[in-house]
Amino acid sequence: MLFATIILVLLWLFQYVLLEAYYETMKCRDLDRAADTIEDSLDSDDYKSVVRDLALKNSLTIVVTDWSCNVVCYENTLGSYSIFENDILNNFNRYLYSLRNRLNDSGKDSISIKPRVSGNDDIQRIIHVTSEKDSGGKLYYIFIESSVEPIDATARIIKEQLTFITIILFELALIITVFLSNRITRPLTKLTESAEKFAKGDYDVRFDGNGYAEVKQLSDVLNTAGEEISKVASLRHDLIANVSHDLRTPLTIIKSYAEMIRDLSGDNPEKREEHLGVIIDEADRLSGLVNNILELSKLENSERTLVPEKFSLHEKMEQVLSRYTLLNENDGYNITFEKQEDVTCYCDIAAIEQVLYNLINNAVNYCGEDKTVIIKQINKDDCVRMEIIDHGEGIDEKLLPQIFDRYYRAPKAKRDVIGTGLGLSIVKTILHQHGFPFGVSSVVGEGSVFWFEMALSNDRENSK
Ligand code: ADP
Repeated sequence: MLFATIILVLLWLFQYVLLEAYYETMKCRDLDRAADTIEDSLDSDDYKSVVRDLALKNSLTIVVTDWSCNVVCYENTLGSYSIFENDILNNFNRYLYSLRNRLNDSGKDSISIKPRVSGNDDIQRIIHVTSEKDSGGKLYYIFIESSVEPIDATARIIKEQLTFITIILFELALIITVFLSNRITRPLTKLTESAEKFAKGDYDVRFDGNGYAEVKQLSDVLNTAGEEISKVASLRHDLIANVSHDLRTPLTIIKSYAEMIRDLSGDNPEKREEHLGVIIDEADRLSGLVNNILELSKLENSERTLVPEKFSLHEKMEQVLSRYTLLNENDGYNITFEKQEDVTCYCDIAAIEQVLYNLINNAVNYCGEDKTVIIKQINKDDCVRMEIIDHGEGIDEKLLPQIFDRYYRAPKAKRDVIGTGLGLSIVKTILHQHGFPFGVSSVVGEGSVFWFEMALSNDRENSK
């Protein structure tokens, strides 16, 4: 509306209020140009024909006089309406004198005046007076008279048209305002309302962004963000349920075994050892659980920065595998390392150890009947690929994209397997931080292959 108002004010100002002044200024400019043309031709013999031409073409009356106002050239196309007509025919030259004196008094090279034509208000004139010298230094005065058309009629037409334009423009502005507010403001207001509901915890709210493409885009982004947040919220909810369940089970076991030792097996060293073993196992599980949660929170808050070092893969794997000797010997697991030529890796040892533990632990937890876990080393040109293979129940293809998500646990995750759904998330965060590629392929019923690639030390040094 403001924009329309500004345009209208400008239109009225230039087309109506200043119309007359503008028209007169233009006329004066034209007369000035005509005077210049005459001046240029004063030296030539045919200056009289130049004067005639100018007078005829532009409907002017032109008088050229010498310094004492003796007429040397007179062309009148305004006929008896010309102000000069009587003055010159009667040889009085009084009017010319008075004009000349006005010019001289003004001290300028040229003046324009608007004389009143006595007895007739409709006829208006502009007289332009200039003094010019020819190349011989002879002084001439040029008087040019032009009629000024009355522009009242034109102004009336313009006024009427402008009135129509004003009405149309205001109506258009109003329609556009309503249209824009519908298309932009209203969707934004709706988005704001939805966002307020969302901020209060209503994660089911949908952001409806009909309107401009940008508003639609914004609502799409908000919807995606909303879905992600509600996913995290429900995962968090699941985690609390899982964790509290997983904490409660070992705590109950610890408590009941401790009671058993106190009441029954305290004096029986064999039983006591067995029961204490269970307590220690469960306590280990508990601390593993808590460690996982702490680990991920540290990684995600970037409290832990990577310190890459060189290390021998075979040495590291020996250390890692030594933790599984008991499982191999006592529980019938078959955890093997299929190695190739040793390589020197370059990465954060503790973090990569964590990746290996998490992947091997998962393979052990989900390896199924044959209790076999194979860790395979595959040397490549610029990196080493590690594969952790099991022949367990595998993972449904549809679930694969989610298993690296925080807190994700397969719907049918074995209840006896203590987990938080954080193990693979830690793996993902660490490998991302290193910039190492990783992935999983799995066939339901046949098993899974989790893999990742580590940079080699030579490669790092060369690229530095
Ligand atoms: P969890 O603590 O539950 O093991 P993870 O993040 O390590 O959490 O794994 C997420 C889910 O991925 C597990 O609940 C499990 O369903 C699935 N998963 C991980 N590793 C394997 C595997 N080797 N075989 C089958 N399923 C697996």
